[in-house]
Amino acid sequence: MEHPLKAEVIVVGTGPGGATVARELARAGRKVLLLERGRPERHRLLYGTHLGALRYTERGGLFFTPEGIQVVVPSMVGGATGMFAGCAAPPPPWLHEKYGIDLHLEVAETVEELGIAPLPPEQRGAASTRLAEAARALGYAVYPQPKFIRPDRTPRFHCGAHCLLGCRCGAKWSAAEFVEEAVQAGALLVTRAHVERVLIEDGRAVGVAGRLAGRPFMARAEHIVLAAGGLGTPRILQASSLRGAGERMAMDLTVIVYGLTREQGNALDPPMTWSWEDHELGVMFSTLVDPWLLYPVIAGMRGLRPLAAWPRWKHLLGVMIKLKDSLSGHVRPDGTLSKPLLPEDRERLQEAERAARRILREAGAKPDWIFSSPLRGTHPSATVRIGDLVDVDLQTEIPGLYVCDASVFPEALGRPTVLTIIALGKRLARQMLKRI
Ligand SMILES: Cc1cc2nc3c(=O)[nH]c(=O)nc-3n(C[C@H](O)[C@H](O)[C@H](O)COP(=O)(O)OP(=O)(O)OC[C@H]3O[C@@H](n4cnc5c(N)ncnc54)[C@H](O)[C@@H]3O)c2cc1C
Repeated sequence: MEHPLKAEVIVVGTGPGGATVARELARAGRKVLLLERGRPERHRLLYGTHLGALRYTERGGLFFTPEGIQVVVPSMVGGATGMFAGCAAPPPPWLHEKYGIDLHLEVAETVEELGIAPLPPEQRGAASTRLAEAARALGYAVYPQPKFIRPDRTPRFHCGAHCLLGCRCGAKWSAAEFVEEAVQAGALLVTRAHVERVLIEDGRAVGVAGRLAGRPFMARAEHIVLAAGGLGTPRILQASSLRGAGERMAMDLTVIVYGLTREQGNALDPPMTWSWEDHELGVMFSTLVDPWLLYPVIAGMRGLRPLAAWPRWKHLLGVMIKLKDSLSGHVRPDGTLSKPLLPEDRERLQEAERAARRILREAGAKPDWIFSSPLRGTHPSATVRIGDLVDVDLQTEIPGLYVCDASVFPEALGRPTVLTIIALGKRLARQMLKRI
């Protein structure tokens, strides 16, 4: 093995958690080493295409749990924000009320810096707006979804279902931008660096080891921040003998309920421009259709009739349901995972699907052609929970070892995660700067 890389702080993973901590620490003059398993994809030719997505999502996007849940795990500089829908939501009130974590200053700072706001009315999409009006007519408090998307950042704003493959027009923020800013401030970014375990000496974290472009490597620092995401971080902790990591998890389980209409549907609208919630059910609804080539995959799993609508993809109306799921299942060291749906969650989901069907009919969908997609998980989280494996300051029991990503959520967020993760990253960096 060659000489180990050295830094004051090692950050593992470049999603919103890792990118934020790295940027804040580098800007404050600390020597930061950022280690990322994936590659920089944002400026590549295939970024934001179906072919590109096959490359930078785990198992080409076709990663299923034994229970049949499709889990989407992007791996690239910027983490899952390289493929996210660009929705922003403040942390849920319970994070402060139940766990004492107050992020309002960090959230306000981020909203201001990134210009987080709903898209202008004329860019929310005609069909999405029809769906929102239908939901409102049925009594829901519909709101335009705040976004990490700013059409004024690009002269060629072009947003639709394909945005979920990666933003090609440049309107959507990605954590890769924070990574670039961290590097400008002096951080060293090493890609294709797969961290396998934390090095612990005399009970203290002193570095990490893994494989760099397939060859063994080691890096040393006094402070290590794991930010490898809800599935990556527990695996590193398991390999580092931290017991309990990856036992039970949340996923904010998602289903899209589809209808067909004679008019244009919401496939060409920006994803998730309108949202509404049912707090009693623990469900968030939004407007969304799957990208063109993903649709036949999920429709085919539901039978020939949904699949036969593929040529009419532009006429689909999609209502997405996001369920605040109970903790269940596990992540194993070899990357396999299980996520059983508990009976109580199944009932809430069925109730939400009935509500989505009513909304689709109200919006003009053919009553005899409505179907629900298979379950999907895009927010793997709560695998290294605050209160269990990290304290409210995101420190593990091992001195010098911190976690800052979706894995620290104490329960399912039930809403978009990224703004909360950025805020946690800013808060952790401030606390670390008092010590280093
Ligand atoms: C299709 C899709 C749409 C979404 N839409 C939204 C949305 O609209 N709004 C929202 O708020 N959230 C959305 N999310 C969820 C959100 O993107 C994630 O919850 C969030 O990015 C998680 O951040 P993180 O910092 O925990 O980790 P991630 O973003 O998962 O980043 C972790 C990084 O660590 C790297 N890594 C993993 N293991 C290792 C290792 N062993 N060594 C080195 N590096 C490693 C990975 O390659 C990855 O780059 C969406 C997710 C998906 C998949």
